Amino acid sequence: MKHLSERDKKHLWHPLTQHKLHAEMLAIVKAKGAVLYDEAGHEYIDGIASWYTAMYGHCNEVILERVYAQMQQLDQVVFSGFTHEPAISLSEELIKILPSNQQKLFFSDNGSTATEIGIKMALQYHFNKEHDRKVMLAFEDGFHGDTFGAMSVSGLSVYNGPFEDFFIAVERIPVPTKDNIETILTTLNNRLKQNDIAGFIYEPLVQGAAAMKMHDAQGLDRILALLQQHDVITIADEVMTGFGKTGRFFASDYLENKPDVICLSKALTAGLLPMAITTCTQKVYDAFYSDDIAKGLFHGHTYTANPLACTAALAALQLLQSTEIQENIAEVIASHKTFDAAIKDHPKVATTRQCGVIYALDLDVKMERYGNLRDRLFKHFMDDGVFLRPLGNTIYILAPYTITKVQLEKIYASIKAVLEIV
Ligand SMILES: *Cc1c(COP(=O)(O)O)cnc(C)c1O
Repeated sequence: MKHLSERDKKHLWHPLTQHKLHAEMLAIVKAKGAVLYDEAGHEYIDGIASWYTAMYGHCNEVILERVYAQMQQLDQVVFSGFTHEPAISLSEELIKILPSNQQKLFFSDNGSTATEIGIKMALQYHFNKEHDRKVMLAFEDGFHGDTFGAMSVSGLSVYNGPFEDFFIAVERIPVPTKDNIETILTTLNNRLKQNDIAGFIYEPLVQGAAAMKMHDAQGLDRILALLQQHDVITIADEVMTGFGKTGRFFASDYLENKPDVICLSKALTAGLLPMAITTCTQKVYDAFYSDDIAKGLFHGHTYTANPLACTAALAALQLLQSTEIQENIAEVIASHKTFDAAIKDHPKVATTRQCGVIYALDLDVKMERYGNLRDRLFKHFMDDGVFLRPLGNTIYILAPYTITKVQLEKIYASIKAVLEIV
């Protein structure tokens, strides 16, 4: 009964996959709420909300109904020269909850393009002002996507070898801690004298792909303040952290210094359709506003501001701000805290961390080779009916806000069981 998995092998090439080493794909036939169903009828709790997208549960009726209605009205139209109600409403609703300095929205299709556009905004902002600034600044171990600009500003990956010669100019700084912040600021202060840094891109508070590495707001705030004094365009990549995951609407809400640009995707459309938005301040927008056509931002994707995706995003925004979802978020946060208290002193647990509904723990298993460990952990969870994707020795949970208590307990129990066998 593995019909789809067999057919898959013939023509499909999967992302982030070495097919010779990992030939088997699990065929998922249905998703509802926090549960995925495979073709053999097994159920898995989606402990990572399908890469942090389906935060209101899969196939959420509220979202489906709104999108279905929109489908009868307007499916797709060019967004250059034309506009439409779903995009306009979305801009109005999103601006209400974004940091108050954000004024303009630029649409694209995914997290990588959202950051790519943020980078272009920073580079062209200075180009338009005739500043000679061509270097981007980024955190070590950051992740911003897989297109060239996004890949360039991401922390160096062992998989980037074939492309590194083609990267844009990027310099990296460490994520701030209480111990290194003074050094970072001194070094930066000196570096900024060369006047060639165009922008700084960062994942605020939580670095997702770096295994949910967390830093606090104070150090980042001081870095942002210094960079903004020097007219460096600050770009918050909130593709992962956006829309409630940190306990507030955006991670940037914890910071005094608001970014010039914000990148959004993933939960933006609640896991229904791919879309992204790069927002910016009036200051950034004004640098492109000119009688000279060439000063415009000449970037555009075919499906820019797709009306269906905008409608899904509007429904998601309404859900996010509902009392019910806000209560769900508070419950998940409290529940993770209780779980953390119960396991943080376990001999197999090295460290734990939490930011909003994002919970991570590092296993204390230093001698093991991570690759093999990761595969064993993954299999353990799947056999338990729990879908988690451990990163190295880190196990993390980022489940839909709507996950039930029983489902959450099942994830916790499976993690507890893992601690007894590693
Ligand atoms: C996922 C992610 C991206 C890339 O988004 P895609 O939609 O996969 O291109 C960029 N930045 C962050 C922080 C992400 O988590």
